[in-house]
Amino acid sequence: MFTLQALIFERMKMYNFNSGPAVLPAEVLQQASEAVINFNDLGLSILEIGHRTDWFVKVVEEGRSLIKELMQLDDSYEVLYLHGGATTQFMQVPMNLLDTNETAAYCDNGIWGSKAIKEAQLFGNVHVACSSKDRNHTYIPRELSVPQHSKYLHYTTNNTVEGTQWQFIPEANVPLVADMSSDIFSREFPFSKFSLIYAGAQKNAGAAGVTILIVKKDMLGKIQRKIPPIMDYTKHIEANSLLNTPPVFAVYVSMLTLRWVKKEGGLAEMERRTNERADLFYNTLDSLNAFIGKTDKRDRSLMNATFTTQNPELETLFLDECKQNGMVGVKGHRSVGGLRVSMYNALPLSSVKVLCDLMKDFDRRHG
Ligand SMILES: *Cc1c(COP(=O)(O)O)cnc(C)c1O
Repeated sequence: MFTLQALIFERMKMYNFNSGPAVLPAEVLQQASEAVINFNDLGLSILEIGHRTDWFVKVVEEGRSLIKELMQLDDSYEVLYLHGGATTQFMQVPMNLLDTNETAAYCDNGIWGSKAIKEAQLFGNVHVACSSKDRNHTYIPRELSVPQHSKYLHYTTNNTVEGTQWQFIPEANVPLVADMSSDIFSREFPFSKFSLIYAGAQKNAGAAGVTILIVKKDMLGKIQRKIPPIMDYTKHIEANSLLNTPPVFAVYVSMLTLRWVKKEGGLAEMERRTNERADLFYNTLDSLNAFIGKTDKRDRSLMNATFTTQNPELETLFLDECKQNGMVGVKGHRSVGGLRVSMYNALPLSSVKVLCDLMKDFDRRHG
Protein backbone atom coordinates (compact mmCIF):
# COMPACT_ATOMS: atom_id res chain seq x y z
CA MET A 1 0.00 0.00 0.00
CA PHE A 2 1.11 3.58 -0.66
CA THR A 3 2.27 5.66 2.26
CA LEU A 4 0.56 9.05 2.34
CA GLN A 5 3.71 10.76 1.05
CA ALA A 6 4.07 8.32 -1.85
CA LEU A 7 0.38 8.67 -2.68
CA ILE A 8 0.61 12.48 -2.75
CA PHE A 9 3.69 12.27 -4.97
CA GLU A 10 2.00 9.84 -7.36
CA ARG A 11 -1.07 12.08 -7.60
CA MET A 12 0.99 15.18 -8.36
CA LYS A 13 1.26 13.93 -11.93
CA MET A 14 -2.51 14.09 -12.44
CA TYR A 15 -4.78 17.11 -12.52
CA ASN A 16 -8.31 15.93 -11.87
CA PHE A 17 -11.07 18.24 -13.14
CA ASN A 18 -13.74 15.52 -13.18
CA SER A 19 -17.29 16.66 -12.50
CA GLY A 20 -18.24 13.69 -10.35
CA PRO A 21 -17.20 11.26 -9.09
CA ALA A 22 -14.43 13.75 -8.55
CA VAL A 23 -11.15 14.51 -6.84
CA LEU A 24 -10.84 13.55 -3.16
CA PRO A 25 -8.16 14.55 -0.64
CA ALA A 26 -5.15 12.18 -0.72
CA GLU A 27 -5.35 11.56 2.99
CA VAL A 28 -9.01 10.55 2.72
CA LEU A 29 -8.07 8.01 0.04
CA GLN A 30 -5.27 6.71 2.20
CA GLN A 31 -7.48 6.39 5.29
CA ALA A 32 -10.27 4.78 3.28
CA SER A 33 -7.91 2.25 1.70
CA GLU A 34 -6.50 1.35 5.10
CA ALA A 35 -10.01 0.82 6.42
CA VAL A 36 -10.70 -1.63 3.60
CA ILE A 37 -7.87 -3.78 4.95
CA ASN A 38 -8.02 -3.06 8.66
CA PHE A 39 -10.76 -0.83 10.06
CA ASN A 40 -9.90 0.90 13.37
CA ASP A 41 -7.25 -1.77 14.04
CA LEU A 42 -9.96 -4.38 14.46
CA GLY A 43 -8.36 -6.86 12.10
CA LEU A 44 -11.56 -6.55 10.04
CA SER A 45 -12.41 -4.58 6.91
CA ILE A 46 -15.00 -1.80 6.94
CA LEU A 47 -16.60 -3.92 4.20
CA GLU A 48 -17.12 -6.91 6.48
CA ILE A 49 -18.63 -5.50 9.64
CA GLY A 50 -22.36 -5.28 10.23
CA HIS A 51 -23.99 -1.90 9.73
CA ARG A 52 -25.64 -2.19 13.16
CA THR A 53 -22.42 -2.83 15.04
CA ASP A 54 -21.29 -0.13 17.47
CA TRP A 55 -18.32 0.41 15.17
CA PHE A 56 -20.39 1.42 12.19
CA VAL A 57 -23.11 3.20 14.18
CA LYS A 58 -20.31 5.49 15.43
CA VAL A 59 -19.34 6.28 11.82
CA VAL A 60 -22.93 7.21 10.96
CA GLU A 61 -23.30 9.31 14.08
CA GLU A 62 -20.03 11.16 13.51
CA GLY A 63 -20.93 11.80 9.87
CA ARG A 64 -24.39 13.12 10.68
CA SER A 65 -23.10 15.39 13.42
CA LEU A 66 -20.25 16.71 11.26
CA ILE A 67 -22.79 17.69 8.61
CA LYS A 68 -24.91 19.53 11.17
CA GLU A 69 -21.87 21.22 12.69
CA LEU A 70 -20.37 22.37 9.38
CA MET A 71 -23.75 23.68 8.24
CA GLN A 72 -24.52 25.21 11.64
CA LEU A 73 -27.92 23.57 11.87
CA ASP A 74 -29.84 23.11 15.10
CA ASP A 75 -31.90 20.17 16.31
CA SER A 76 -34.95 21.16 14.29
CA TYR A 77 -33.10 19.46 11.41
CA GLU A 78 -32.46 15.78 10.74
CA VAL A 79 -29.59 14.47 8.64
CA LEU A 80 -30.05 11.26 6.66
CA TYR A 81 -27.85 9.06 4.51
CA LEU A 82 -29.97 7.76 1.64
CA HIS A 83 -29.55 5.58 -1.44
CA GLY A 84 -30.15 6.20 -5.10
CA GLY A 85 -28.21 9.38 -5.81
CA ALA A 86 -29.59 12.89 -6.05
CA THR A 87 -31.78 11.61 -8.88
CA THR A 88 -33.88 9.57 -6.45
CA GLN A 89 -34.60 12.79 -4.54
CA PHE A 90 -36.26 14.21 -7.65
CA MET A 91 -39.13 11.80 -6.84
CA GLN A 92 -38.63 11.29 -3.10
CA VAL A 93 -38.94 14.99 -2.24
CA PRO A 94 -42.40 15.48 -3.81
CA MET A 95 -43.48 12.02 -2.65
CA ASN A 96 -42.88 13.15 0.94
CA LEU A 97 -43.83 16.82 0.77
CA LEU A 98 -46.41 17.36 -1.95
CA ASP A 99 -49.96 16.05 -2.01
CA THR A 100 -51.72 15.32 -5.30
CA ASN A 101 -53.88 18.46 -5.14
CA GLU A 102 -51.08 20.77 -3.94
CA THR A 103 -48.65 23.00 -5.84
CA ALA A 104 -44.88 23.31 -5.61
CA ALA A 105 -42.80 25.96 -7.38
CA TYR A 106 -39.67 24.90 -9.25
CA CYS A 107 -36.86 26.84 -10.91
CA ASP A 108 -35.95 25.53 -14.33
CA ASN A 109 -32.27 26.48 -14.60
CA GLY A 110 -30.55 23.44 -15.97
CA ILE A 111 -30.65 19.78 -16.83
CA TRP A 112 -30.96 18.61 -13.20
CA GLY A 113 -33.68 21.10 -12.28
CA SER A 114 -35.63 20.17 -15.42
CA LYS A 115 -35.49 16.52 -14.42
CA ALA A 116 -36.70 17.37 -10.92
CA ILE A 117 -39.69 19.20 -12.45
CA LYS A 118 -40.70 16.22 -14.59
CA GLU A 119 -40.68 13.91 -11.60
CA ALA A 120 -42.53 16.30 -9.29
CA GLN A 121 -45.32 16.46 -11.88
CA LEU A 122 -46.00 12.79 -11.14
CA PHE A 123 -46.98 13.70 -7.57
CA GLY A 124 -48.69 17.10 -7.65
CA ASN A 125 -48.94 20.41 -9.49
CA VAL A 126 -45.74 22.10 -10.54
CA HIS A 127 -45.53 25.83 -11.12
CA VAL A 128 -42.39 26.86 -12.98
CA ALA A 129 -41.17 29.88 -10.98
CA CYS A 130 -38.51 30.90 -13.49
CA SER A 131 -36.70 29.46 -16.48
CA SER A 132 -33.44 30.13 -18.30
CA LYS A 133 -34.29 27.78 -21.16
CA ASP A 134 -34.44 30.66 -23.66
CA ARG A 135 -30.64 30.98 -23.51
CA ASN A 136 -29.70 27.34 -22.93
CA HIS A 137 -29.51 27.84 -19.17
CA THR A 138 -26.45 30.08 -19.40
CA TYR A 139 -27.73 32.52 -16.75
CA ILE A 140 -29.74 32.71 -13.53
CA PRO A 141 -33.04 34.61 -13.85
CA ARG A 142 -33.67 37.50 -11.45
CA GLU A 143 -37.49 37.46 -11.66
CA LEU A 144 -39.40 34.69 -9.90
CA SER A 145 -43.09 33.95 -9.67
CA VAL A 146 -43.97 31.85 -6.65
CA PRO A 147 -47.66 31.29 -5.93
CA GLN A 148 -48.41 32.04 -2.28
CA HIS A 149 -49.94 28.66 -1.65
CA SER A 150 -46.86 26.76 -2.93
CA LYS A 151 -45.80 23.98 -0.63
CA TYR A 152 -42.16 24.83 -1.34
CA LEU A 153 -39.77 26.38 -3.87
CA HIS A 154 -37.19 24.00 -5.36
CA TYR A 155 -33.98 25.08 -7.06
CA THR A 156 -30.52 23.79 -7.91
CA THR A 157 -27.94 25.99 -6.20
CA ASN A 158 -25.20 25.13 -8.68
CA ASN A 159 -25.84 23.92 -12.22
CA THR A 160 -23.07 21.38 -12.66
CA VAL A 161 -23.59 20.87 -16.38
CA GLU A 162 -24.22 24.43 -17.57
CA GLY A 163 -21.77 26.12 -15.19
CA THR A 164 -24.06 28.63 -13.48
CA GLN A 165 -24.57 29.16 -9.75
CA TRP A 166 -27.07 31.14 -7.72
CA GLN A 167 -25.00 33.85 -6.02
CA PHE A 168 -28.06 34.96 -4.06
CA ILE A 169 -30.94 33.21 -2.32
CA PRO A 170 -34.27 33.54 -4.12
CA GLU A 171 -36.89 35.57 -2.29
CA ALA A 172 -39.96 33.52 -1.56
CA ASN A 173 -42.33 33.34 1.37
CA VAL A 174 -42.48 29.57 1.15
CA PRO A 175 -40.10 26.86 2.40
CA LEU A 176 -36.93 26.49 0.33
CA VAL A 177 -35.82 23.11 -1.02
CA ALA A 178 -32.48 22.82 -2.78
CA ASP A 179 -30.43 20.33 -4.73
CA MET A 180 -26.90 21.26 -3.58
CA SER A 181 -25.16 18.26 -5.11
CA SER A 182 -22.30 20.18 -6.65
CA ASP A 183 -21.64 23.05 -4.25
CA ILE A 184 -22.49 21.77 -0.79
CA PHE A 185 -19.63 22.46 1.67
CA SER A 186 -17.86 24.75 -0.83
CA ARG A 187 -18.67 27.99 0.98
CA GLU A 188 -20.21 29.49 4.09
CA PHE A 189 -23.91 29.58 3.46
CA PRO A 190 -27.09 30.33 5.43
CA PHE A 191 -28.21 26.69 5.30
CA SER A 192 -30.80 27.31 8.02
CA LYS A 193 -32.85 29.33 5.52
CA PHE A 194 -33.66 26.00 3.85
CA SER A 195 -36.26 23.43 4.82
CA LEU A 196 -34.77 20.59 2.81
CA ILE A 197 -31.35 20.14 1.20
CA TYR A 198 -30.04 17.15 -0.69
CA ALA A 199 -26.75 16.28 -2.35
CA GLY A 200 -25.20 13.23 -3.95
CA ALA A 201 -21.88 12.82 -2.13
CA GLN A 202 -19.70 12.14 -5.18
CA LYS A 203 -19.06 15.76 -6.16
CA ASN A 204 -17.96 17.67 -3.11
CA ALA A 205 -18.66 15.39 -0.17
CA GLY A 206 -17.21 11.93 -0.71
CA ALA A 207 -17.70 8.86 -2.85
CA ALA A 208 -20.61 7.82 -5.08
CA GLY A 209 -23.32 5.69 -3.54
CA VAL A 210 -24.73 7.86 -0.79
CA THR A 211 -26.95 10.93 -0.81
CA ILE A 212 -26.93 13.38 2.05
CA LEU A 213 -30.38 14.69 2.96
CA ILE A 214 -31.11 17.40 5.49
CA VAL A 215 -34.71 18.06 6.39
CA LYS A 216 -36.46 20.33 8.84
CA LYS A 217 -38.73 18.08 10.88
CA ASP A 218 -41.72 20.41 10.66
CA MET A 219 -41.91 19.71 6.89
CA LEU A 220 -42.86 16.08 7.44
CA GLY A 221 -46.11 14.24 8.17
CA LYS A 222 -48.26 16.81 6.40
CA ILE A 223 -49.60 14.85 3.45
CA GLN A 224 -52.24 12.16 2.93
CA ARG A 225 -50.33 9.95 0.51
CA LYS A 226 -49.19 6.51 1.67
CA ILE A 227 -45.44 6.21 1.16
CA PRO A 228 -43.48 2.94 0.92
CA PRO A 229 -41.31 2.82 4.08
CA ILE A 230 -37.98 2.89 2.21
CA MET A 231 -39.06 6.17 0.53
CA ASP A 232 -40.43 7.70 3.75
CA TYR A 233 -38.12 10.26 5.41
CA THR A 234 -39.96 9.79 8.73
CA LYS A 235 -39.15 6.08 8.78
CA HIS A 236 -35.46 6.82 8.09
CA ILE A 237 -35.40 9.36 10.91
CA GLU A 238 -37.00 6.86 13.33
CA ALA A 239 -34.33 4.33 12.37
CA ASN A 240 -31.45 6.81 12.87
CA SER A 241 -30.61 6.54 9.17
CA LEU A 242 -30.19 2.76 9.45
CA LEU A 243 -33.57 1.67 8.09
CA ASN A 244 -31.91 -0.90 5.86
CA THR A 245 -28.28 -1.59 4.95
CA PRO A 246 -26.72 1.75 4.02
CA PRO A 247 -23.90 2.00 1.46
CA VAL A 248 -21.38 1.54 4.26
CA PHE A 249 -18.22 2.37 2.36
CA ALA A 250 -19.66 5.50 0.75
CA VAL A 251 -20.93 6.68 4.15
CA TYR A 252 -17.48 6.09 5.60
CA VAL A 253 -15.65 7.98 2.83
CA SER A 254 -18.09 10.87 3.14
CA MET A 255 -17.52 11.03 6.90
CA LEU A 256 -13.74 11.05 6.34
CA THR A 257 -14.11 13.81 3.74
CA LEU A 258 -16.03 16.00 6.18
CA ARG A 259 -13.50 15.30 8.94
CA TRP A 260 -10.94 16.63 6.47
CA VAL A 261 -13.06 19.72 5.71
CA LYS A 262 -13.31 20.48 9.42
CA LYS A 263 -9.62 19.87 10.07
CA GLU A 264 -8.61 22.15 7.19
CA GLY A 265 -10.58 25.05 8.66
CA GLY A 266 -14.24 24.34 7.90
CA LEU A 267 -16.43 26.10 5.37
CA ALA A 268 -14.70 29.48 5.80
CA GLU A 269 -11.46 27.93 4.55
CA MET A 270 -13.26 25.96 1.80
CA GLU A 271 -14.80 29.25 0.63
CA ARG A 272 -11.41 30.95 0.58
CA ARG A 273 -9.99 28.14 -1.57
CA THR A 274 -13.09 28.07 -3.80
CA ASN A 275 -12.70 31.77 -4.52
CA GLU A 276 -8.97 31.49 -5.04
CA ARG A 277 -9.34 28.70 -7.61
CA ALA A 278 -12.26 30.33 -9.42
CA ASP A 279 -10.60 33.79 -9.51
CA LEU A 280 -7.45 32.34 -11.00
CA PHE A 281 -9.35 30.36 -13.60
CA TYR A 282 -11.81 33.07 -14.69
CA ASN A 283 -9.18 35.85 -14.70
CA THR A 284 -7.08 33.72 -17.00
CA LEU A 285 -10.05 32.84 -19.20
CA ASP A 286 -11.05 36.50 -19.55
CA SER A 287 -7.52 37.55 -20.47
CA LEU A 288 -7.22 35.19 -23.45
CA ASN A 289 -8.53 35.31 -27.00
CA ALA A 290 -8.48 31.60 -27.70
CA PHE A 291 -11.22 30.79 -25.15
CA ILE A 292 -14.65 32.15 -24.30
CA GLY A 293 -16.83 31.58 -21.25
CA LYS A 294 -20.29 30.14 -21.88
CA THR A 295 -22.25 31.78 -19.07
CA ASP A 296 -23.15 35.28 -17.90
CA LYS A 297 -20.28 36.58 -15.78
CA ARG A 298 -22.35 37.44 -12.73
CA ASP A 299 -23.85 33.95 -12.63
CA ARG A 300 -20.67 31.97 -13.12
CA SER A 301 -20.26 28.82 -11.09
CA LEU A 302 -17.29 28.80 -8.74
CA MET A 303 -17.30 25.00 -8.94
CA ASN A 304 -17.89 24.10 -12.60
CA ALA A 305 -16.53 26.50 -15.23
CA THR A 306 -17.88 26.02 -18.75
CA PHE A 307 -16.18 27.50 -21.79
CA THR A 308 -15.32 26.86 -25.43
CA THR A 309 -12.54 27.63 -27.84
CA GLN A 310 -13.05 30.75 -29.94
CA ASN A 311 -12.41 28.61 -33.00
CA PRO A 312 -14.47 25.40 -32.66
CA GLU A 313 -11.89 23.37 -34.56
CA LEU A 314 -9.37 23.99 -31.80
CA GLU A 315 -11.43 22.25 -29.13
CA THR A 316 -10.23 18.73 -29.90
CA LEU A 317 -6.67 19.97 -30.12
CA PHE A 318 -6.92 21.59 -26.70
CA LEU A 319 -8.45 18.46 -25.19
CA ASP A 320 -5.60 16.40 -26.65
CA GLU A 321 -3.06 18.72 -25.08
CA CYS A 322 -4.84 18.49 -21.72
CA LYS A 323 -4.66 14.73 -21.93
CA GLN A 324 -0.97 14.73 -22.84
CA ASN A 325 -0.28 16.88 -19.80
CA GLY A 326 -2.16 14.72 -17.29
CA MET A 327 -5.31 16.86 -17.09
CA VAL A 328 -8.49 14.81 -16.97
CA GLY A 329 -12.16 15.74 -16.97
CA VAL A 330 -11.90 18.87 -19.14
CA LYS A 331 -14.54 17.80 -21.66
CA GLY A 332 -18.02 19.33 -21.29
CA HIS A 333 -21.08 17.24 -20.38
CA ARG A 334 -22.31 15.16 -23.32
CA SER A 335 -25.60 17.10 -23.40
CA VAL A 336 -24.00 20.54 -23.94
CA GLY A 337 -20.51 19.85 -25.36
CA GLY A 338 -17.71 22.38 -25.08
CA LEU A 339 -15.23 22.40 -22.23
CA ARG A 340 -15.76 22.25 -18.49
CA VAL A 341 -13.45 22.18 -15.51
CA SER A 342 -14.74 21.24 -12.09
CA MET A 343 -12.94 22.78 -9.14
CA TYR A 344 -14.23 21.07 -6.03
CA ASN A 345 -12.88 21.34 -2.46
CA ALA A 346 -10.13 18.76 -2.86
CA LEU A 347 -8.70 20.26 -6.07
CA PRO A 348 -5.35 21.88 -5.26
CA LEU A 349 -4.80 25.42 -6.51
CA SER A 350 -1.67 24.08 -8.22
CA SER A 351 -3.88 22.03 -10.59
CA VAL A 352 -5.68 25.20 -11.67
CA LYS A 353 -2.30 26.91 -12.17
CA VAL A 354 -1.09 24.12 -14.44
CA LEU A 355 -4.28 24.32 -16.50
CA CYS A 356 -4.09 28.11 -16.74
CA ASP A 357 -0.49 27.90 -17.89
CA LEU A 358 -1.48 25.49 -20.63
CA MET A 359 -4.35 27.79 -21.66
CA LYS A 360 -1.99 30.78 -21.87
CA ASP A 361 0.49 28.81 -23.90
CA PHE A 362 -2.29 27.55 -26.19
CA ASP A 363 -3.49 31.12 -26.60
CA ARG A 364 -0.02 32.28 -27.66
CA ARG A 365 0.06 29.60 -30.32
CA HIS A 366 -3.56 29.84 -31.52
CA GLY A 367 -5.17 32.97 -30.03
C1 LIG B 1 -24.77 15.06 -10.45
C2 LIG B 1 -25.99 15.79 -10.08
C3 LIG B 1 -27.22 15.13 -9.93
C4 LIG B 1 -27.38 13.67 -10.19
O1 LIG B 1 -26.76 12.93 -9.19
P1 LIG B 1 -26.83 11.34 -9.13
O2 LIG B 1 -26.18 11.08 -7.81
O3 LIG B 1 -26.07 10.81 -10.30
O4 LIG B 1 -28.25 10.92 -9.15
C5 LIG B 1 -28.31 15.89 -9.54
N1 LIG B 1 -28.21 17.20 -9.32
C6 LIG B 1 -27.04 17.87 -9.46
C7 LIG B 1 -26.99 19.34 -9.20
C8 LIG B 1 -25.90 17.19 -9.85
O5 LIG B 1 -24.74 17.84 -9.98
